[in-house]
Amino acid sequence: MSKGIFKLPPIDNEPIHSYAPGTPERERLQKMYDEMWGQQKDIPMIINGKEVRTNNTRRVLPPHDHQHNVGSYHVGTAEHVKESIDTALAARDAWASMTVQSRAAIFLKAADLFAGPYRDRINAATMINQSKTAFQTEIDAACELVDFLRFNVKYMYEILEEQPASSEGVWNRLEYRPLEGFVFAISPFNFTAIAGNLPASAALMGNVVVWKPSFHQVYSAQVIMEVFQKAGLPAGVINMIFTEPQETADIVFGHPDFAGVHFTGSTEVFRNIWKTIGNNINKYKTYPRIVGETGGKDFIWMYKEAPADAVATALTRGAFEFQGQKCSAASRAYIPQSRWSEVQLHLLNQLQTVKMGSPRDFSNFMTAVIHEGSFDKLESYIERARQSDDAEIIFGGKCDKSKGYFIEPTVILAKNPNYETMEEELFGPVLTIYLYEDEKWKESLELVDKTSIYALTGAIFSDDRAVIEYATKALENAAGNFYVNDKCTGAVVNQQPFGGARASGTNDKAGSKWNLLRWISPRMVKETLNPPTDYRYPFMD
Ligand code: NAD
Repeated sequence: MSKGIFKLPPIDNEPIHSYAPGTPERERLQKMYDEMWGQQKDIPMIINGKEVRTNNTRRVLPPHDHQHNVGSYHVGTAEHVKESIDTALAARDAWASMTVQSRAAIFLKAADLFAGPYRDRINAATMINQSKTAFQTEIDAACELVDFLRFNVKYMYEILEEQPASSEGVWNRLEYRPLEGFVFAISPFNFTAIAGNLPASAALMGNVVVWKPSFHQVYSAQVIMEVFQKAGLPAGVINMIFTEPQETADIVFGHPDFAGVHFTGSTEVFRNIWKTIGNNINKYKTYPRIVGETGGKDFIWMYKEAPADAVATALTRGAFEFQGQKCSAASRAYIPQSRWSEVQLHLLNQLQTVKMGSPRDFSNFMTAVIHEGSFDKLESYIERARQSDDAEIIFGGKCDKSKGYFIEPTVILAKNPNYETMEEELFGPVLTIYLYEDEKWKESLELVDKTSIYALTGAIFSDDRAVIEYATKALENAAGNFYVNDKCTGAVVNQQPFGGARASGTNDKAGSKWNLLRWISPRMVKETLNPPTDYRYPFMD
């Protein structure tokens, strides 16, 4: 029980280090990278707070140097999935009844550890295993993760304060209970912050969690789990397993105590998860919460009176940072014909200076894509574009996987607005541009709206207020995160809550109160202070 109504320490966005030459953080991060690069880490699963090794191991591959060995992780079986569910359920009562301030303190402490003593380790792990540059790593693995952990505590307190009215002689109280059962968190490879947030947000609200990270993010997932444990998370509250996705899903979604899934990843996987849950609905003790943030085909649209250099910069950063592997990455653009030569000049000038290679070399803007499967898929799209009459590659297009999975920043000009790379999520450094007739700008907005099944992020560029208003309305349902005169990536916790609709997800806005509401089930308690003792009402006199 709490013995006070406590005020939280100040909570603000974590300041972002620049890693510019001469800064102490640059030197520290390079040192940590070199140290970890030279070691081989043995990465166990964590079930019931214990390290679990199976000796069925797989190597952690740095995507920019896939022959280099930085360690391996232990792959679990169906038995480990079952054990992690049992363990979570056994931990549930104690965790759910722990005071809110203790739960909050654990995650605030984890945030401070990531911001301080573990900052270089979580950053270096993300650079090595997910091939992010220092800056892309810093805004993800350090700052966004810290922001998620701290702001979620603030949002939880705001939720707890949300209480119904009471009347004379009656005290109404809303209790925010965790879900009755366990939550399954499934995270993608591309953001270390998302990997940490998916299990942590549900756990903060009092839930117990089985967490299955992507096999391509295990190296930084291990650091996350180490920090959670160091921050005092009790055994069994979050169990991290490295098990085969489909086998894990079959067991978890067939369990009667399955209470919710917190997923981020591709649309196809999420649709299958939803179907499985639907088919199993009679098995569950409670209707499971289904939260999924999924794919995108994010756009940048330019009006004829917008600055070409700003549009080109938004395209370069929006489409090619982290090799286009952000769910929010710009992958289709609509440029008025009369302005194309200017935009093209700026864009190609910028791209000619882009360097690609290892994230250890801080002058690189881009590194490798995540794995061979992604490389092969991207190469096949590029090859088809080369052969197509509907498309022309105007920049890049070279692919080389001899040392790492490197794909040049590639720009395709599409003659057909429905060409496959205008519609489908490629998840790599490939941007497709369609040129529209200036006077048909309203029709072009319809194209933007109708071309893809997704609705995650999108940006418009215009200095004309009437056009901004028109486009904002016309694209109302085309993006869950909409930008005016900015690139369509880089959402910050507490500033731009993130999530999309249509095939892009359930739009529960990660890093916001709306997301946390999905992990609780309120109980209304009405207490009458002086209950009536006569059944008759005055009108009966
Ligand atoms: P993915 O769908 O391949 O994998 C995501 C997770 O699902 C992994 O942990 C994977 O092991 C697991 N998984 C795979 N098959 C499964 C199955 N049958 N049952 C249960 N789990 C299964 O995605 P990825 O390549 O890791 O990440 C990229 C995708 O994530 C892109 O589509 C991107 O748009 C999306 N994404 C979306 C957001 C967002 O906020 N909307 C954020 C990040 C990434």
